[in-house]
Amino acid sequence: MKPPKFAYHAPTTVREAVELLAELGDDVVVLSGGQSLIPMLNLRLANPTDVIDLGGVDGLGDVAARDGGLDVGAMVTHRQMETNDLIASTAPLAQHAAGFIGYRAIRNRGTIGGSIAHADPAAEWPAVVLALDGAITLTSAEETRNVAGDDFFESLFTTAKRPDELVTSVHLAGRFQDNWGFSEFQRRTGDFAAVAVAVGCVITDSSVVEARVALAGVAERPLRCPAAEQALTGPHTGGAAEVAAVARDSFEPVGDSHGSSEYRKRLVFAETHRAVAQALGSDIESIANA
Ligand SMILES: Cc1cc2nc3c(=O)[nH]c(=O)nc-3n(C[C@H](O)[C@H](O)[C@H](O)COP(=O)(O)OP(=O)(O)OC[C@H]3O[C@@H](n4cnc5c(N)ncnc54)[C@H](O)[C@@H]3O)c2cc1C
Repeated sequence: MKPPKFAYHAPTTVREAVELLAELGDDVVVLSGGQSLIPMLNLRLANPTDVIDLGGVDGLGDVAARDGGLDVGAMVTHRQMETNDLIASTAPLAQHAAGFIGYRAIRNRGTIGGSIAHADPAAEWPAVVLALDGAITLTSAEETRNVAGDDFFESLFTTAKRPDELVTSVHLAGRFQDNWGFSEFQRRTGDFAAVAVAVGCVITDSSVVEARVALAGVAERPLRCPAAEQALTGPHTGGAAEVAAVARDSFEPVGDSHGSSEYRKRLVFAETHRAVAQALGSDIESIANA
């Protein structure tokens, strides 16, 4: 299969890339790792006049510490997320989740910025961004702005990013580095998750003072579950199973050829149970083991 004809652009700076985006109009797409875009081109699901390749753009491939968390450049690959020491120490949830994305070949080329811009509701990065109180940096020819992860993912493959904007980096908070959990069910290794659950907690004196529970694969966008977060917060929280039951009862998950809504409800329970137990770990052992 071959892609349709398009004009190819290879900018070397962000400035050049965003000026091209502004100049070329609505029928232009950005190429990062190509792991979603190339199949879409080959299947003629996308038919752009122009493709702007970010592969040679300087400054999008860095990981840097900031405000106790991390700034991750849009072109950092899934594999780099899996193997980078700073990510492992500051955002271990992100490091762990990276290993669930596709296969090694996909992870070698696919990027965090591409995945977030693409906004597949079953993808790992959007849920991780929500669990780690992440924010997305968007750059256009006019401005650079930050959008909280909570406000970024709007619907199926739809985000708060305007067509003239690039995702240039992602900020992940560092305060969840000690208490986090991630669990997902894939029908086969390398498949997208049927349901994935990412949990970030802050625990002080055996009390959960902050909890974020985010799910992928249950709706048209990744979602947090406020009721489960509430059940998890405080000194006398219920067991992991109780939190998981709250999550299960909070959603009517989408059903499709990979699983009915009822089946996904069961998965929400099982994956939330595992992720919450992992996040609580030995800090609140009685809860984790409940
Ligand atoms: C067989 C297979 C299995 C996969 N399994 C999984 C999985 O289990 N979990 C998972 O999460 N993903 C999976 N993926 C998708 C993969 O993670 C992609 O890497 C990801 O969805 C897109 O990242 P990319 O860098 O390849 O972006 P591209 O494919 O280059 O781009 C994707 C879209 O985002 C836009 N875009 C890209 N970068 C930017 C940017 N910086 N700013 C603005 N817009 C941008 C593009 O224009 C395009 O519309 C799989 C892919 C394949 C082929």
